[in-house]
Amino acid sequence: MDLAGLTIAGARRMMQAGELSPVQLLDAVNDAIENTDARVGGYLSRDYARARAAAEKSDTSLPLGGIPIAIKDVINVEGEPCTCASQILQGYTAPYDATVITKLRAAGAIPFGRTNMDEFAMGSSTENSSIQLTRNPHDPERIPGGSSGGSAAVVGANEALASLGSDTGGSIRQPAALCGCVGLKPSYGRVSRYGLVAFASSLDQIGPFTHTVEDAALVLQAIAGHDPLDSTSLDVPVPDYSARLNDGVAGMKLGVPKEYFVEGMDPQVEARVREAIEVYRALGAEIVEVSLPHTKYAVADYYIIATAEASANLARFDGVRYGKRAEAPRDLADHYGRTRGEGFGKEVKRRIILGTYVLSSGYYDAYYLRAQKVRTLIRRDFEEAFEKVDGLLSPTSPVPAFKIGERMADPLQMYLSDIFTIAANLAGICGISIPCGMAQTGGKALPVGLQIMAPAFEEARLLRIARAYEQTQQRG
Ligand code: GLN
Repeated sequence: MDLAGLTIAGARRMMQAGELSPVQLLDAVNDAIENTDARVGGYLSRDYARARAAAEKSDTSLPLGGIPIAIKDVINVEGEPCTCASQILQGYTAPYDATVITKLRAAGAIPFGRTNMDEFAMGSSTENSSIQLTRNPHDPERIPGGSSGGSAAVVGANEALASLGSDTGGSIRQPAALCGCVGLKPSYGRVSRYGLVAFASSLDQIGPFTHTVEDAALVLQAIAGHDPLDSTSLDVPVPDYSARLNDGVAGMKLGVPKEYFVEGMDPQVEARVREAIEVYRALGAEIVEVSLPHTKYAVADYYIIATAEASANLARFDGVRYGKRAEAPRDLADHYGRTRGEGFGKEVKRRIILGTYVLSSGYYDAYYLRAQKVRTLIRRDFEEAFEKVDGLLSPTSPVPAFKIGERMADPLQMYLSDIFTIAANLAGICGISIPCGMAQTGGKALPVGLQIMAPAFEEARLLRIARAYEQTQQRG
């Protein structure tokens, strides 16, 4: 069975009609991995026997009954490795299920396969994985985006129907754009972070990669909701995300932020996004230009706040409680120094050093405190814009997938990959990337992503806006 073109919704219909069993679907996914993943490198590990046992017992009357879902290697699945693509977590086995996994299982889904990522989710190309390279399914010489590059690539390469990733500054939306799939970052507090290895706790959110907006709604439905185990998850009702999905955008006001069309962005990306905006106009939306004046500070702001939080979160990897530890240390200082020195990669160390610096006495006020104030200004930009419009349309990434190695020597260039996605995390709002055509480069067609943003906890509206465009395209 070929997985190309198969969606969760489609597989569910086939199961209900008795044309497909959960075991057949799992085997089709497993075969696709065997046929394709040597070329893509999206999966780090998988436990077929365990998934098979779950598939045999699975209840197809549940909302995601019998649907295998690949999981980024930063989310704990009890009894499975959770490496965060870092050497420091080699040999670590997760002792419990993250809440999203508990919820997926309750909805009938089968967590199957662990996907590659930038080490501790720090990066935009998955090249910071200490384990393996992941290649873009549309061009093996290019990166899949990051940090959830494995989760995006396995969906883009039809080796999974859906996957989960995490998004701290764009790590779901940017790789989704570059691999040609749908990637949803829920609002901060919408989905529990319990069991997600923390990078920057005030920014991290878990969300799905899927082929269609309809499927994104189905997965979000399963994972959303308050969790007493995560005090930052908000206790607000979860609406039915599929109910008004097809209601269209006629009469809506959609804003185009002028700061999101910058000099130096790829002309084909700009052209595809402007075409998509015209599609919205034709669908009856009123298109208005808006301004988010503090956008220019977002990347700098993010790299202070995210590194500060990371430096604190990563202190727990001390070689005592988790994973790898240095051999025969001389004393405690040698133990810590060597465990962390050998266990963390270059980018992770850079972040810990930067984060420690911006939090240190004497610099705290100048950097961290100031960054928090700028964050408030960025949030207010969005609040003001959303007084005038129902949603925002922009590119997801300023460029299509770049070549492997191209940005590794220049961290600043790499950081700029997230120029359009970071602000949504700082503001806590929701965002989605959906495919909006291709850019032709050197004989290859590379996917372009349209980013849509909506106010916090307005995922139903976000999905509806996304679906309206998707319905005008071939797939879905
Ligand atoms: N690329 C950004 C970073 O390196 C965002 C990563 C993410 O969202 N996890 O921090």
